[in-house]
Amino acid sequence: MCGIIGYIGEKNCVPILLNGLKRLEYRGYDSAGLALINNGTASVIKNKGKVSLLQEKVDSLNLSAKLGIGHTRWATHGVPNEINAHPHHNHKKNLFVIHNGIIENYQTLREGLRQMGYSFLSETDSEVLPHLIDSFLQKGFDLFKAVRLALSEVEGTYGIAVIYEGEPNKIVAARKGSPLIVGVGENENFVASDVSAILAHTKQVAYLEDGELVEIYKDKFITKTISDTEIAKEVHEISMTLDQIDKGGYPHFMLKEIMEQPDSVTNSLRGRILFKKGTAKLGGLESVTEQLTNSKRIIISACGTSWHSGLVGEYMLEQFARIPTEVEYASEFRYRNPIITPEDTVFFISQSGETADTLAALREAKIRGALVLGICNVVGSSIARGSMAGVYIHAGPEIGVASTKAFTSQLIVLALITLLIARKKHLSLIDGKSIAEELKNIPQKIEEILKLNSHIEMIAEQFKDAKNFLYLGRGYNFPVALEGALKLKEISYIHAEGYPAAEMKHGPIALIDENMPVVFIAPKDSTYEKIVSNIEEIKARKGRIIAIASQSDNEIDKLVDYTIKVPDTIRMLMPILTVIPLQLLAYHIAVKKGLNVDQPRNLAKSVTVE
Ligand code: GLU
Repeated sequence: MCGIIGYIGEKNCVPILLNGLKRLEYRGYDSAGLALINNGTASVIKNKGKVSLLQEKVDSLNLSAKLGIGHTRWATHGVPNEINAHPHHNHKKNLFVIHNGIIENYQTLREGLRQMGYSFLSETDSEVLPHLIDSFLQKGFDLFKAVRLALSEVEGTYGIAVIYEGEPNKIVAARKGSPLIVGVGENENFVASDVSAILAHTKQVAYLEDGELVEIYKDKFITKTISDTEIAKEVHEISMTLDQIDKGGYPHFMLKEIMEQPDSVTNSLRGRILFKKGTAKLGGLESVTEQLTNSKRIIISACGTSWHSGLVGEYMLEQFARIPTEVEYASEFRYRNPIITPEDTVFFISQSGETADTLAALREAKIRGALVLGICNVVGSSIARGSMAGVYIHAGPEIGVASTKAFTSQLIVLALITLLIARKKHLSLIDGKSIAEELKNIPQKIEEILKLNSHIEMIAEQFKDAKNFLYLGRGYNFPVALEGALKLKEISYIHAEGYPAAEMKHGPIALIDENMPVVFIAPKDSTYEKIVSNIEEIKARKGRIIAIASQSDNEIDKLVDYTIKVPDTIRMLMPILTVIPLQLLAYHIAVKKGLNVDQPRNLAKSVTVE
């Protein structure tokens, strides 16, 4: 998920690697490291925290080398610390590997390697790689072949770069599901996860595809498939500027993160659906599944966007797991003297895992004996460590202050938890299978919605000067109305409120006139007819209406001013789709108002004050 750079050539690669890592900092990371091979001798330097710290360490050692690899890690397995930082090495410390992604079968591989006498230093999934490659070197294979054979045993995603004292004239790299490119220079070559890392040195790049490996020498590179067929690679010239590249070609991190959702959601789902059994597999909950399933009550505690995902979770859990569920602001929870018993489960949701109010509520729930579970994005964060068990959402680093991809990944994880409990209780195999199947289709449906970006931008143009906004939804889409309003408030500073659509007539309807834009989240579900009545009520009072509607709905266009159509899915998963147009709408309105969408005024990414 994070950053890779490698160099082979005539120059001292130490500053090249460090500067490359600095260029990758924008992606977010928690630790960094380098491995160098100089005159047949290897050194590895790594630390928790910033690249600048790594630089200080490296400077004090006065190192120099013409072959090296560097990594910024964003932990997925094992807390961020020096031991878990990459590069990882074999027991002889003459083979070094950096890895981006997740090795799903690392436990099985670890076990096999342990039986062969290998031992492990770190808690990472990645550390199986140097040992697995080593096991093939021991059998007499050369480095390239050893890497190829090792990777054929690996399930999951990877971008890797490998160097070996025994063959100091090359870097071997490979990709599956994690980006990797070869940078081509004059008597020097590079490998990187992202062009920004090498753009200061070359604009000539070859893009690796999934399932490809490359052997990089200083004056050539040879690409092969994992099944050993050589392939000719085209070298492209990059025309983008450094700034554009940092944000993946997007003008803002927020837009990049919105657009990334087919991938982030795929990562949240990866390896976690058991299709044949129609259920979910969540390693982090295995030790507590029994207790969770038998909970008398579930409480979800969170703040902001995570609180909204908790509300969707409440609908999911009550409908399918049939466990009474309540959702509470973490800040209220801790001051209210809540009734909590050891038969309760309390989930704490936080992207950063450092939200101060949520952390304090977690401590309170623990004192009262509940089963305390975390749903976080940042591995090794305080909430992740403070929980008794939990699930990482694996959305990758989120930089934009207004949360987008973390929200959809939280919903995915809540759906998986619901499926897991429901199948242990009373949900039939056939119903479990259909939820599993729908989950699988979500990334491609998000992809379809993202194609509406310019249509949504056009709608934003019509509404950018509004002073207020109302968002209305029912059932599962009521929390989406809250989230849509929050996104708009956060980045465009337009006052917006979310309401259950039926509540409108109990007050907010007084606000409706020709100046009030109303966003209806109105997919075709069991409450559709009712929401159409609400639309009529707004129309009668001249409100301007935007509807998020089902692709199959041709009627709604006649009723409203603008429609944004989303594909159908089952009700419990609908919020994952309906929220996407609302994220884009808020984004485009804020951009048209000339505001700083990535760092809106007064807001912080991780709220560590109470
Ligand atoms: N899964 C690996 C780890 O936790 C790699 C993380 C990354 O992509 O930075 O160490």
